[in-house]
Amino acid sequence: MVKDIATARNDFPLLATTMNQAPITYLDNAATTQKPQPVIDRLIKYYQTENVNVQRGVYALAQATTTKYEQVRQQVADFLNAQPTEIVFTRGTTTSLNWVAQSFAPTVIQPDDEILITIMEHHSNLVPWQIVAQKLGARLRYVELDDAGHLDLKQLQASLTSRTKIVALTHVSNVLGTINPIKQITTWAHRVGAYVVVDGAQAVGHLPVDVQDLDCDFYAFSGHKVYGPTGIGVLYGKAALLAQMPPVEYGGEMINLVTRQTTDFKPAPAKFEAGTMPIAQVIGLGAALDYLTSLGWSQIMTQEQHLLQLAGSQLQAIPGVTLYGPALTTAHSAVLSFNLAGVHPHDLATVLDSQGVAIRAGHHCAQPLMTALQVSATARASFAFYNNDQDVERLITAVKMAKEFFQA
Ligand code: PMP
Repeated sequence: MVKDIATARNDFPLLATTMNQAPITYLDNAATTQKPQPVIDRLIKYYQTENVNVQRGVYALAQATTTKYEQVRQQVADFLNAQPTEIVFTRGTTTSLNWVAQSFAPTVIQPDDEILITIMEHHSNLVPWQIVAQKLGARLRYVELDDAGHLDLKQLQASLTSRTKIVALTHVSNVLGTINPIKQITTWAHRVGAYVVVDGAQAVGHLPVDVQDLDCDFYAFSGHKVYGPTGIGVLYGKAALLAQMPPVEYGGEMINLVTRQTTDFKPAPAKFEAGTMPIAQVIGLGAALDYLTSLGWSQIMTQEQHLLQLAGSQLQAIPGVTLYGPALTTAHSAVLSFNLAGVHPHDLATVLDSQGVAIRAGHHCAQPLMTALQVSATARASFAFYNNDQDVERLITAVKMAKEFFQA
């Protein structure tokens, strides 16, 4: 049965708390999302009745919990339309992307080859490529923004050559809210034989992701941004590509046989999951995906688009406010970056904080993008399906208050 989104907000205990004596208006969902009670309850149940190490014990509880852990892998695979053997549990998007850069890139890159990324990348999908490019003698190239705040797709196409081995880009920008046409880009990249690595940190949880339809080679996301626990992330990789990657870490439970001098590793995904994994977090991620599924994409996307249009149009109407990113009428997720003329975003965020409104101010781990936008920082309000019109009203009132305060 589909759960009604209008009452879903009540499932999130943190949203009923206060901040600075005001009801909290949580608009920092791009940083992390709040957790619904079923996820919190699932973590408690795990620690109360299921806590054992997985993949090791022969006793009944160890086997039962191992089965639940592996069921979540199946669930994630179904969620992304992949196979469970293509789902690696990691610490988060950052770890997933670093592993592709450290382990996969050296299997396909020769000196003078090129890695193509975009100017809108989060540092997590930028710095690992800088480092690996330096190490392998490859060239790191950037796709810029066009005048409308989208990726310059003409430049992207023109940059793809037989030297391009990897195209790494974000599905949704954590600063601009731009939704990139991954399927189209994958088709172009594959024509020149390049592999496509997608940073899905801001996409999963906000729109349906089908890795087979996108035909990307790798896809990364974090549990904590999809209403699940921190400390758990996912790396999807096509089976043949995971097979050609060496493990990144070595230790318990990822081996078939160890002798004094040699080790035979298990196949993927086990070869990447060395040591005791974040078991509770995996189980909690399963509960988060169940929760999302109970709401359904149609309700989630309709509500987030409603909030984007409402907040975006009202912010735009405030004299002195500059919105960054593509027009609200184009593919745009519910992330709004803006500045108020003459007010540093940190000062703006501080006034909003005094009113109980939580937004992010800063460079959003995207310093090259800030340079391209010719700003040092922006304020960012990012929405989730549990936000409502009152949250938008509080944001707008607080921004107007900040404007009056600083103008006075
Ligand atoms: N990529 C993007 C686009 C992000 O927004 C973030 C989180 N801000 C990350 C990567 C990194 O995610 P995590 O910190 O969960 O590893």
